[in-house]
Amino acid sequence: MKLWPTRKARNRVRQQIRERDGDNCHWCGGPMLFGLPIHHHRLMPTIEHIVPRWKGGSDELSNLALAHRICNQEQNAQDQPFKIYTRNPANG
Ligand SMILES: [Zn+2]
Repeated sequence: MKLWPTRKARNRVRQQIRERDGDNCHWCGGPMLFGLPIHHHRLMPTIEHIVPRWKGGSDELSNLALAHRICNQEQNAQDQPFKIYTRNPANG
């Protein structure tokens, strides 16, 4: 069963997280593209669980963050613990 079955429900959650965290990806820190007509764009924001549900993470807002679609997919594929990438100022 889908957590947020409708686009409207998903948008509401996404907006709440965005107001709290801003427009940057929780994984890589880069800006995300909101409001794109293409929903499968890799820079679209997706709703991410900070503690995965299979580890007992909740669906509360406090356990949710926004991340690029591509970052979300990479993290899921690697099955790594959640970490926030920090940008090295030397690399811009
Ligand atoms: Zn990202």
